[in-house]
Amino acid sequence: MTERNAQKRIGRSRLAPEVYKLLEGIVGSEWISEDRAVVETYSKHSIDPASFLMKHQKDGTNIPACVVLPHTVEQIQSIVRILNRHRIPYSPFTNGQMLCGPTSPAATVFLHLSRMNHILDIDEDNLTITVEPYVDYRQVQAETMKRGLWNGGTPLATSLTKIASQFAFAGIWQTDLKYSNLSRNVVAVEVVLPTGEILRTGSSAISGNKAFHEYGPGPDLHGLLRCSLATTGIVTKITVKLHTWVGDKVLKTPKDRPSLRSWSDPKYDRAELPKNHRLVWIECADLKTQLEVLYRVCHSGIGLGLNSCGVYSAYYCSQTQAMTEKRTLEHFFPAYNAYITMAGITSERQLDYEEKVFRHIVDGVGGSKYYSHEYKPEVLEALAPWNLDFVRNNFGYRMNRRTYAGLWLPLGEIDMAKAHQERWQEALDEFKPLYMTDEGGGKNDTPYVYCVNRGHFAYTETDNYPDPLDPQQLATAIAYMTYGAARMVKDRISGPPLNLPIEPFTTFFPEVGPNTHLFLRKVRGVFDPNSVAAPGRQVFSEEECKHIPEPVSQLFNSMREKVGLEALSTEP
Ligand SMILES: Cc1cc2nc3c(=O)[nH]c(=O)nc-3n(C[C@H](O)[C@H](O)[C@H](O)COP(=O)(O)OP(=O)(O)OC[C@H]3O[C@@H](n4cnc5c(N)ncnc54)[C@H](O)[C@@H]3O)c2cc1C
Repeated sequence: MTERNAQKRIGRSRLAPEVYKLLEGIVGSEWISEDRAVVETYSKHSIDPASFLMKHQKDGTNIPACVVLPHTVEQIQSIVRILNRHRIPYSPFTNGQMLCGPTSPAATVFLHLSRMNHILDIDEDNLTITVEPYVDYRQVQAETMKRGLWNGGTPLATSLTKIASQFAFAGIWQTDLKYSNLSRNVVAVEVVLPTGEILRTGSSAISGNKAFHEYGPGPDLHGLLRCSLATTGIVTKITVKLHTWVGDKVLKTPKDRPSLRSWSDPKYDRAELPKNHRLVWIECADLKTQLEVLYRVCHSGIGLGLNSCGVYSAYYCSQTQAMTEKRTLEHFFPAYNAYITMAGITSERQLDYEEKVFRHIVDGVGGSKYYSHEYKPEVLEALAPWNLDFVRNNFGYRMNRRTYAGLWLPLGEIDMAKAHQERWQEALDEFKPLYMTDEGGGKNDTPYVYCVNRGHFAYTETDNYPDPLDPQQLATAIAYMTYGAARMVKDRISGPPLNLPIEPFTTFFPEVGPNTHLFLRKVRGVFDPNSVAAPGRQVFSEEECKHIPEPVSQLFNSMREKVGLEALSTEP
């Protein structure tokens, strides 16, 4: 940090006092704050390297002007109407993992939805659950498993992540093989539009009708709301599908398990499989063998989840960071592996049958071994945390012991893992690994492969683990992400990160669509005529394009040129 920077006072934006008073009138003085100590806590987002970098740069843009905690849908409507009238930008906020900061230096209001944490309805006949926006996966599981049901999957941050905030992203699960991701399990949403009006999708769009059917009547607006990162509305209710659960009615999880850098206690680290479930691990000779197995198992129709984890095991399954490092250096976990999760839904014998099919496929492909009491029992024992992670993630935050920030997460055919691996290796050669685990997914390792929807498609993932105290490393993690997007677009492999429209990627990659950004800009104008709903998060307006900071344009254009795409002028 330069001497000048060290002395710099971090500025922050403020709301006009009369607007603050109006918001206070809606929620009461207890549920609103502009106290510096409070708003500052909303400004560092756990997996967003840019939010860390801003702290080093003493840039106060990420600090909201005010945080307000509504309790009802009507309060959200009133807040949004006031902010709309005064042209003040806002963003909904749940835990603040990513993409939830203010999108401009203008005074921004965060609607923290933590008081809206109730399950509203469990429909055991039609197999749906309807929840408020702060309900997390753990709550849904706890209530539904008692009834022999569950929602079908979980991201690797179960107890933190909310169903509603995942709707902003599509939501990847460890059981995508059978149930597909969250976005394909949503039956209905209710959103408060940026104008303050309510919009309901699917069958519940007809007043008094239940939520059981996701499209119609009339045009299907679901797609414009899904993955919009709060720019087309705030989800206030969400209904998702339920499926049969044959595991324990109450999940046995290692309770109060801390995730600390250098401390562990074995009692927190052992995870048992839920009853009537089975998990089988294989170690493949190489990526080609692994992908062949994944394809064939997907098509066979067996299993709940089918994933390859690579370097992730070094985090999830290691109690301390020192263990993560040691195991990574020693290649303790296999480079090419896969696990299948199975459930005995129709009978206990289903488990035996599915395992038999699995082994038949794996042996038919050849070149793989099973972890067992005979072959690498110590690896099998160490992999135990995955026994539970497909349903209730307990170990995910070990990824953040250093910093899990900056990711490539393209979406494509299962074979894409090969193209991903090659390009990740190019990036490692170009920018150099920031940490030893960055090499996971490189030339001697598999990217994480999530098989989705019986193999119709897959997500593959590689990540950076920059030192959060080193601004240069954080900037390089952002460069990796930008390079990855440019590479994937240029080589026609996938859309920019997460395959979602997220600025500045939307505007800087007009190859997507083509010109998806122009269409989204029009959509934004319809939903949000006054540009208040997280403006510029999904797509920049023409006016916002004029104010893209020079370093951002330089970064994106330099990465475009690096991969052979033309530099862009973003002047409208
Ligand atoms: C270790 C780790 C593992 C992870 N694994 C996975 C995984 O396996 N699969 C996966 O999909 N993700 C995964 N994630 C990412 C994380 O689960 C998602 O980013 C999650 O949606 C963030 O939840 P949050 O509640 O903190 O939302 P926030 O970060 O607070 O918000 C996320 C976005 O949702 C918007 N939003 C919040 N509430 C609403 C609402 N009510 N209506 C409209 N928009 C809203 C916000 O404005 C923001 O744009 C992982 C993260 C970590 C740290």
